[in-house]
Amino acid sequence: NTGSGHGPRIGVLTGDGIGQEIVPGVVQVVDAAFEGVGTTGPDWAWLPFGREALDEHGDAVPAGTIAALEDLDMWILGPHDSASYPPERRGDLTPGGRIRKHFDLYANIRPARALPGVRAVSPRMDLVVVRENTEGFYADRNMAVGSGEFMPTPDVALAVGVFTRRAAERIAESAFALAEQRRRRVTVVHKTNVLRLTTGLFRDVCAEVGERHPDVEVTYEHVDALTAKLVRSGETFDVIVAENMFGDILSDLAGELSGSLGMAASINASAEKVMAQAAHGAAPDIAGRNRANPTALMLSAAAMLDHAAATGGPGHFARVADRVRGAVEHTVASGVATADIGGQASTSEFVETVAAHALRGV
Ligand code: ATP
Ligand code: MG
Repeated sequence: NTGSGHGPRIGVLTGDGIGQEIVPGVVQVVDAAFEGVGTTGPDWAWLPFGREALDEHGDAVPAGTIAALEDLDMWILGPHDSASYPPERRGDLTPGGRIRKHFDLYANIRPARALPGVRAVSPRMDLVVVRENTEGFYADRNMAVGSGEFMPTPDVALAVGVFTRRAAERIAESAFALAEQRRRRVTVVHKTNVLRLTTGLFRDVCAEVGERHPDVEVTYEHVDALTAKLVRSGETFDVIVAENMFGDILSDLAGELSGSLGMAASINASAEKVMAQAAHGAAPDIAGRNRANPTALMLSAAAMLDHAAATGGPGHFARVADRVRGAVEHTVASGVATADIGGQASTSEFVETVAAHALRGV
């Protein structure tokens, strides 16, 4: 609601490690971008999450945080270092995984776009991997199935792949809707020469959804063949839709081809909610040293605003997102960059530069 002079309400969950440094920087840049396009900035809801929440509330994802998120359409999630929590407090799912599962954020959308001035194997790559995030070959994430792995005897381990029409249909809809805002091409990933029934259902449902989007060109690729094509001619792909495990692997591959971990954005979304979450972790090895690269989370926040605009939110969110992206690109292209991508800027210098560009426009 921006009509009455109130900015949108957006959650912020700072998290652990470099989250303490990059999350406030992302908030600063998003504020500057809202101001830059002349609209009221977000009303930020800072919510306990991660190690501090564990110490203070006895839970890394306190019930009060979940309750607050119920009332929000979008939020920014910092990284968590749950591997460092006391073992008895870790639980089966990571803190981020618990939020994803609670809100059934079934679409993991990972843009892989090379930035001018950043060394990349595929400097012209500009694609998005749309990964199904609840079932497939990571069926332990599935609401209905519980653990997808088991051992009938100590010497035999089995894993279940779960593929449902409903999950394939909704992820395919996300992918085709996204392609309609981009270059109108979708690549459907499968492995039907071996996994005929499971990945075959996924492929066929995607094909059906594709028929409802005749303006989008659809191609089909075996996952193994696709890895080679991504390396050889990654710039030709637009939107890639894949089941959970294939999407996990392909998005890491595309992320590395187009840049580095500190640059890799992602969002997790359902039809109602969208969460910005960088692809990287809490980077405890560099935490607290003003060295972390906030780019991935800045681009994740931009993707979150784009997604909100495309799914019924205010149209000016897309302009704010463009403003954030433009400011990041301009900053990096001008040679201001953090150490992980070969620059000398500190986190705070980088944030100040991006925020200044976001405010003024480039
Ligand atoms: P997780 O299990 O949470 O994914 P991880 O063990 O894969 O974590 P990360 O925390 O992602 O590891 O860090 C991997 C490496 O990349 C580390 O050396 C870290 O310093 C570096 N790294 C990750 N994110 C950034 C960033 N934003 N800026 C600079 N370096 C980063
Ligand atoms: Mg990792």
